[in-house]
Amino acid sequence: MNRAVARRALSTTPPRLETDSDLIARYVEDAAHYPGGRARAVVRPSNIDEVAAAVQAAPALLVVGAQSSLTGGGTPADDVVLSTERLTSVSVTTTQVTAGAGVTLEALQRELSTYNVWLPPVPTFLGATAGGAASTNAAGAATFKYGTMRDWIDGLTVVLASGDVLELRRGEVRASEAGVFEIEADGGVRQVAIPHLTMPAVPKCSAGYCSRPNMDLVDLFIGSEGTLGAIVDVTFRVAARPAGVCWALVPMSSETTAIALVDALRRAASDTWRTRDPQGVDVAAIEHLDGRVLAILKEDGVDRRLNVTLSPQTEVVLLVQLELSAASAAGDLWGDLADGGLSGDSPLARFCRLLEQFGAFDDTEIVPPASASRRIALTEFREAAPTAVNRRVALAKAQVDDRIHKTAADAIVPFECFGDMMRMCRSLFRSRNIDLAVWGHISDGNVHPNVVPRSYADVETGKALMIELGREVIAMGGSPLAEHGVGRSPMKQQLLQMLYGDTGIASMRRVKQALDPDCKFARGVLFTPLPA
Ligand SMILES: Cc1cc2nc3c(=O)[nH]c(=O)nc-3n(C[C@H](O)[C@H](O)[C@H](O)COP(=O)(O)OP(=O)(O)OC[C@H]3O[C@@H](n4cnc5c(N)ncnc54)[C@H](O)[C@@H]3O)c2cc1C
Repeated sequence: MNRAVARRALSTTPPRLETDSDLIARYVEDAAHYPGGRARAVVRPSNIDEVAAAVQAAPALLVVGAQSSLTGGGTPADDVVLSTERLTSVSVTTTQVTAGAGVTLEALQRELSTYNVWLPPVPTFLGATAGGAASTNAAGAATFKYGTMRDWIDGLTVVLASGDVLELRRGEVRASEAGVFEIEADGGVRQVAIPHLTMPAVPKCSAGYCSRPNMDLVDLFIGSEGTLGAIVDVTFRVAARPAGVCWALVPMSSETTAIALVDALRRAASDTWRTRDPQGVDVAAIEHLDGRVLAILKEDGVDRRLNVTLSPQTEVVLLVQLELSAASAAGDLWGDLADGGLSGDSPLARFCRLLEQFGAFDDTEIVPPASASRRIALTEFREAAPTAVNRRVALAKAQVDDRIHKTAADAIVPFECFGDMMRMCRSLFRSRNIDLAVWGHISDGNVHPNVVPRSYADVETGKALMIELGREVIAMGGSPLAEHGVGRSPMKQQLLQMLYGDTGIASMRRVKQALDPDCKFARGVLFTPLPA
């Protein structure tokens, strides 16, 4: 069936509009520090009817969660800000959890852990909310094994621009053969044609509206960045927690060899999933930090504080998450390794053999599942990368030029092109003498090259080079918009246009027009509004 029927909300009394300037000031900026944020008022509904009434009443609305957006998508442009912070209900069954849009992923994982289940594809920033993660189709370190948020969302409750409520369950409403949804709302039927475009075949792509033949209506709202409706709650599938996870910190003296090792680990993991071999190498995630990031962390004393010792030759650090089967997690990991040496047949011995093949075994630190404190320290080491670079951007803005801002890419290519993409990236930025720090989710082929600016000219050149890199990424069959979305960033909106062309953008605009004809939601996010 391609028709969804929205219902009227039960109450039409909107919650209080808050106009206190100190309160408003808390909502005018997101993590991208996009300039010029302004809000008319803030509204903080605590249930679905209040959301519906607030949507009906407001002429222009930006729904926000934790405002951890890196694209300006969480920055209001003279809108009423609808904060989801009071939508915090959680209800868990053995296979699913329904979370209010404002539940943080950290709180959600904590609640799920009491049932010994988890939500695998969470972004690195766990302060993000369920609604925000769904709206941006966020992804995370473990996307390599588990996919993106989209793969784990079974249902959504969405308030449309008319204030009508759509309760969507995956599998119930699919686009017709002609690619059209019908949505009954507000006393009429809206025809919504899915966008006319081909999405790149990469594991993650947060680049405007989804388009697939016969797609599910749930998928149209996932990744729509708050432009089509207010998500009130999200139903996620959940998974049993892995029996044990080993972490490994793998310093490498060459980026090329590091990429070859990642390739070998990806292949070994795919074999394990295909054959269901309980002794196989089961990699869930590989994160990476490049030499410039490592130098910055050294400057800041992060390595000493977290007791991470790296030789001066280290060009790249890989952080590997290796999941263990119940049998190997229950066994004596170190004993297995000592008895059989690297010739043993445990997952860990096989993993170590792969490291040895690439000359990486001797310097690797392996953290067993029981060492929670060390695992936390390594997570902190990884997380210190964006923090340290963002601090340098903020300092340059304060001390050098107020126009300086974060300039970063979020690119993904099919993994076989990853080495070429990195060589291209390095040569582009080196040729213009731009200081670049790179980290990301290498197991997906997803990187975040960030400019470390010394001047505003570096920012301007950096943006031009990010566009150039985006062109190459698209030519390689990848996406220059992998997981953070598009938001208000002119650079990301240009990348969206390059990815799908004028026809693709025009067909996305038609979706917006059909569902939100007055452009009430997130005006200026994804694309600039057309003149009336
Ligand atoms: C340190 C750091 C690390 C990060 N790491 C990752 C990562 O690994 N992977 C990744 O994908 N992202 C990452 N991000 C980006 C960010 O965390 C994600 O985009 C996240 O999903 C945003 O969630 P939020 O609750 O903060 O949403 P917000 O920033 O508040 O909003 C983001 C967008 O979604 C819309 N929106 C929010 N809630 C709703 C709702 N209920 N209904 C409709 N629209 C809504 C907003 O209008 C906006 O357009 C990172 C950010 C930071 C600061």
